[in-house]
Amino acid sequence: MTVPGELTFAAPRRARPPRHLADLDPGQRRAAVAELGERPFRAGQLSVHYFDHLSDDPGSMTDVPAALRERLGAELLPTLLTPVRHLEADAGRTRKTLWRLFDGATVESVLMRYPGRVTLCVSSQAGCGMNCPFCATGQAGLTRNMSAAEIVDQVVAGARMLRAGEIAGGSGDHQRVSNVVFMGMGEPLANYRAVLGAVRRITDPLPSTVGLVPAMDRLVGEGLSVTLALSLHAPDDELRDELVPVNTRWKVAEVLDAARRYFEATGRRVSIEYALIRDVNDQRWRADLLGTELNRRGRGWVHVNPIPLNPTPGSKWTASDPRVERTFVERLRAHGVPTTVRDTRGREIDGACGQLAAVTA
Ligand code: SAH
Repeated sequence: MTVPGELTFAAPRRARPPRHLADLDPGQRRAAVAELGERPFRAGQLSVHYFDHLSDDPGSMTDVPAALRERLGAELLPTLLTPVRHLEADAGRTRKTLWRLFDGATVESVLMRYPGRVTLCVSSQAGCGMNCPFCATGQAGLTRNMSAAEIVDQVVAGARMLRAGEIAGGSGDHQRVSNVVFMGMGEPLANYRAVLGAVRRITDPLPSTVGLVPAMDRLVGEGLSVTLALSLHAPDDELRDELVPVNTRWKVAEVLDAARRYFEATGRRVSIEYALIRDVNDQRWRADLLGTELNRRGRGWVHVNPIPLNPTPGSKWTASDPRVERTFVERLRAHGVPTTVRDTRGREIDGACGQLAAVTA
C-alpha cells in the first residue's frame, strides 16, 4: 500500500530483464549479432521470424543454419512473458492475460475486438508510482519498469492469439492487432526510454499519461505518429491535486498547455480522459470549467472521453448517476467540445480502465 499523494518516479533498482531483439533498433540488432561472431544479416532473419512470423522458436528458423539457431535464439529471443491466466468477457471478444515476467513480477494486458479493429492495451510498468487513489494499479505502487521488449512482446503475444483464432468474433482480415494503447499498468512517460523503444517497434500507439509535462514536450520532438491521451479527471487544481497526485508537480494549466503544444506539433487531436466519479468530479460547473479551459486554448484540438468510474478494491468512490453523466456530456458538447463516453470493456474480469492489478491469487 502507498502513502496518499506520494509519487514514485525512479523505479526501484532490480535485475534487468534479459536483452531481446525487440529492445534494439535494426542497427543495434546487426551489431549484437556481429558481437556474437555471426554475420550481421542474421539479425534481419531473426527480425522477420519474430516480428512478421511472430515466432521465437529457434527450431522454426529454417533459413538459419541449424547449428546457429539455438544460440541466436538464446541470446536474442529469450522468453520474456509467461502466461499465468487468461480471463474472458464479451463472449470471448475481450481477453485479459496475466503475465509473469522473468523475475516473478506480474503484469496484465487486455485484447479487445471491436467491429473493424482490434485494440491491445499494454502495460509499461509492473505497478505504477503515480498513486491515483481511484486506480487499482496506482494503489499497488511501483515494482519496476518494463523493458522495451517486454512491452513489445505483449503485442506479439496478442497477435499470436488473434492469428490462432483465440479471440471470438473475427473474420476476414481483422486478425491483426490494429491499435495499441499504452493504457494498461504503469505510467508510460515515467518509463520513457523503454516506451519510446517499444513505440518505435510497433505502429499506431496511443500512450496515456497522468501529465508528466517535460516528458510530454519531449515526446513532441520524437517525430512519431502517436496520439496522446491525458488523464485529467478534474479541471481545477484543488481536486486534481487529490485525484492525480502528480498535479502537485504540474498544474492543470501547465498540463493543458503541454497537451495543446502536442497537438500543434503533431496535428493529432489529444484525448482528455475523465473518469466520472459520483459527487466528486461530475458537477455541471466542472464540465463548464473544463469546456472553458479547453476552448481557451483553441478549437478542434481536443476530444473528451468521460469514463464511468470502474470499481476498484477498497475504493470509497462509485460511478456517476447516468443522468449526471448525460448532463456532463451535454455541457461539454454545448461548449463545442467533441465528447464520447468511453466504452470500457472487461469490467467483470477486472480488465477495464484502472482495474489492472495483476493479482495472482
Ligand atoms: N498512467 C497512465 C496510463 C494508464 S491509462 C494514465 O493514467 O493515463 C488508464 C486510464 O484509466 C487512465 O485514464 C486512468 O486515469 C483511468 N482510470 C484509472 N482508474 C480508473 C477507474 N477506476 N475507472 C475508470 N478509469 C480509470
